Amino acid sequence: MTYTPVRPDALLPPVRVNLYSDTQTRPSPEMKAAMVAAELGDEQHGDDPTVHTLCDRMAALLGKQAAVFLPSGTMCNQIAILTHCRPGDEIIAHETAHIVNNEGGGPAALTGASVLGLKGPRGQFDADTLRAAFREKRRNSPLQTLVEVEQTANHGGGSVWPLARLNAVLDAAHAHGMATHMDGARLMNAVVAAGIPAAEMVAGCDSVWVDFTKGLGAPLGAVLCGSADFIDTAWRWKQRLGGSMRQAGICAAACLYALDHNVDRLADDHVNARALARGLAQIPGITVEETETNLVFFDTTGAGLAADELATRLRKQGIMLSTTDRHRARACTHLDVDLAGIETAVQAIRNAIA
Ligand SMILES: *Cc1c(COP(=O)(O)O)cnc(C)c1O
Repeated sequence: MTYTPVRPDALLPPVRVNLYSDTQTRPSPEMKAAMVAAELGDEQHGDDPTVHTLCDRMAALLGKQAAVFLPSGTMCNQIAILTHCRPGDEIIAHETAHIVNNEGGGPAALTGASVLGLKGPRGQFDADTLRAAFREKRRNSPLQTLVEVEQTANHGGGSVWPLARLNAVLDAAHAHGMATHMDGARLMNAVVAAGIPAAEMVAGCDSVWVDFTKGLGAPLGAVLCGSADFIDTAWRWKQRLGGSMRQAGICAAACLYALDHNVDRLADDHVNARALARGLAQIPGITVEETETNLVFFDTTGAGLAADELATRLRKQGIMLSTTDRHRARACTHLDVDLAGIETAVQAIRNAIA
C-alpha cells in the first residue's frame, strides 16, 4: 500500500484538478500575508511568540496540558512512539495505519518497537478485537505499551471512528496498562463531519496531533499534544532528531490562520467529496467506497483497468489522483478543488475508462 506519485513531466499538461492529496494545497495570499506579518523569535530557545500562541491554542482545543510544534505529522507519530515506548515494546494499531505502511519502518528503526497490525473494516477495530490481541505478561512476550488509532482512518476510506467505539478501544487499552495515541492528521475533518468538539473526541487519548498541511492548507507544520510530562520528553526527542527550529513562527502563523479560516470550511470538502463519489458511482466498472469525509476511494477492477493506468491517463488530461493498490485509487478533495473541478474530473474518468 504505497502511493505511486505520477511524476511531473515537462511533456504533461499543467494540472487542472489536483485530487492527488490534500497535502497539495498551496498557501493562499491571505495565509502568506499572515506569515509575513508574524512576530518571530528563536523557537528552539523557547521564545517564538507565534509558536507559543499556536501551541497554547492547540492544547486548549484538544483539552491537553501542553503542545509542541513539529515540522511534520510523521515526526509527531515517531516522537510520540519514542516517548511512550521502549525498545522491544509492542504497539497495537490497525494494519493499514500510516505508522505501519508510510513512515519508513520508523517504529522499528527509531524506537525499536514492533507493531501488531489488527484487522477490521474501514481502518478501524473494536474493543473486542483489541482485547483478543492482548498478551499475558510473560517474560518471552513483548511488553504491549501503546495503542494507536487514526482519526480519520486514511486507508480506511477517510472513515470517522464513532465516539463510542473509539472510547471503548481507548478504555480497553488503559485497562491493559497501555498508553493511547491518536494520529490526527485529519482530526479536524472528523470533528467537522461528526459535529463533536475536538477535546471531547480525543479525551481518551494520552497523546494526539493535528496536521496543518492536509486539509487545513498550511505549507508545513503539525502540533503534538499531551500531558506536560509527555511534552517535556517529546521536546527532548525533537531536539535529538533535529526537529527544533528557529524563526518557526513564520510557519506557525500559517497554522493559526488555518485554525481561524480553514476548519469550518472542511464541510465544503466533504460535500465535494460526496459529489465526486456520486459521480464516480454512475460510471460503469467503478465501485466507490463509502465516503464520510474528504477522501474518496474507488475500485477499478470492473473497468478492467489498473488504478495506475487510470492515473496515468488522467494525468495526461491535467487531472491528478493517487493509487493505493493495483485497483484501488484515491481522490482527495481540499480547498484548491471546487465543484466545477469535481465535474471535470468525473467526466475525465468516464472518458479514460470508456
Ligand atoms: C499525511 C499523514 C501522516 C503524515 O503526515 P506528514 O505531515 O505528511 O508527515 C500521518 N498519518 C496520516 C493518517 C496521514 O494521512
